Amino acid sequence: MKNSSMDVTRRGALVQLLVLPALAGMLAVGATAVARADARVDLKYQSTPKGDQKCSGCVLFAPGKTPKDDGTCKIIAGDISPNGWCTAFAKAPN
Ligand code: SF4
Repeated sequence: MKNSSMDVTRRGALVQLLVLPALAGMLAVGATAVARADARVDLKYQSTPKGDQKCSGCVLFAPGKTPKDDGTCKIIAGDISPNGWCTAFAKAPN
């Protein structure tokens, strides 16, 4: 009887060791996705340049397959136009 109870406890501890970090990671990823979606509004993203500033010249932009294709942004979720802009623009080094 005592061994059975200890097995359940060990099993529970193992499950917690394996599952809880995975759940915490999933929650963190979900929170990051929400934060990145909110960033589009918070950072006033627009699909057009602001003066001579545009996403293709931003250090946070990851280009698409061609220079004209949408790419991605490290802080805003979803497709990002290479001609877009937001208030977090950070000029990439030439
Ligand atoms: Fe474009 Fe703003 Fe992302 Fe820079 S931070 S790539 S300007 S959306």
